[in-house]
Amino acid sequence: MLAKRMSQIAPSPTMAISAKTNAMIAKGIRVIDFGLGQPEFRTPDEASEAGIQAIRDGYTKYTPTAGADDLKSAIIEKLENDHQLRYSKKEIIVSCGAKHSLYNIAQVLFEEGDEVIIPAPYWVTYPDQVRLNGATPVIVKTREEDRFLITNDQLKDAITPRTKAIILNSPSNPTGSVYTEKDFSGIADLLVSASLWIISDEIYEKFIYDGKRYTGIASLSPDLKKKTIVVNGVSKSYSMTGWRIGYAAGPTEVIEAMSTLQSQTTSNPTSISQKAAVAALKKGGPFISTMVSEYSSRRALVVEQLNKIPGIVCPHPAGAFYVFPNVSGLLGKRPTINSSAAFAEYLLDDYGVSTVPGEPFGVGGTAPANGYLRLSYAAPKEALIEGLDKIKQAVLNL
Ligand code: PMP
Repeated sequence: MLAKRMSQIAPSPTMAISAKTNAMIAKGIRVIDFGLGQPEFRTPDEASEAGIQAIRDGYTKYTPTAGADDLKSAIIEKLENDHQLRYSKKEIIVSCGAKHSLYNIAQVLFEEGDEVIIPAPYWVTYPDQVRLNGATPVIVKTREEDRFLITNDQLKDAITPRTKAIILNSPSNPTGSVYTEKDFSGIADLLVSASLWIISDEIYEKFIYDGKRYTGIASLSPDLKKKTIVVNGVSKSYSMTGWRIGYAAGPTEVIEAMSTLQSQTTSNPTSISQKAAVAALKKGGPFISTMVSEYSSRRALVVEQLNKIPGIVCPHPAGAFYVFPNVSGLLGKRPTINSSAAFAEYLLDDYGVSTVPGEPFGVGGTAPANGYLRLSYAAPKEALIEGLDKIKQAVLNL
């Protein structure tokens, strides 16, 4: 018999959808994939070359558990340059992807009786990682009219003596919403006065459009920095999802515990990938600019075309590479299509268009609450144009 904790979690639903999409593609069926959770760009050559050089140099042995010194230095420099945040090496840990950093945080902080506030729509992994450690996710449903950001009143209602942490994700997967400095200021006093940790997942930090500047919650004040664990990585910013390098920066007490845990679980992340990550952080600026300007034009295309389809309303997200259109106007047009999950299935089965329905991101319930889809625009423009046209046909034929 399996351990009881396994009944608390399920396979990542977004990965399940990509498995179905890939199975269709393997059968020779043409699928336009709006489900992608990763940039389709090649890893920048500087990073790949550094990885290859690491192999040639025999840099293929264990590194310190919490990450090699040169990578920690590059991360410290990045956090100082981008966010004016100062950390020492004891306050940084490198893990096998941001997901691994988040898992380590959950394991060292959460236990039975703890509550963890997660604004919905959320990235699918958060509630499962909380439950895996016996704690309870407290889901706060944010509203489309609030740009899917948690409000001060919602936060106040959610905080209890059992609250251990809140998980913030800006820019957000799946909505693309971004907290501006002003948005954070609205909840800052409450976050400072409450006894809780702030976990700030900043993996989409570089995907910000319209010339806006990114603000991380820890940069707002020393009091916020003291209770925040910043999570980031090279997966999305440098199109390095397969290299598996993420990191966390935060108070020594938490980072040291994560390091102890990591020493008894995975040990260090891959030495070769760490060298590639150093090169990415030091030389990858121009790569990011090219990628983000391309995504900015794709975002404009996708939002414009979706809004032309009757029954679909697509807000203009400020960040990430996802749009989160409201499709509730389409539900019920056919008796069988009464949820976004059913609509997503119709798009995939009948039109070869893969999207992710809103339900796994915590916007479930009956229509219209469940009426959202997540579409990623991290796919070539021609494919996006073809896919948008197919979505239009699908809607017209409902
Ligand atoms: N956080 C969010 C919000 C994500 O969307 C993802 C990847 N889908 C991650 C973390 C994990 O990133 P990594 O590849 O570094 O584990």
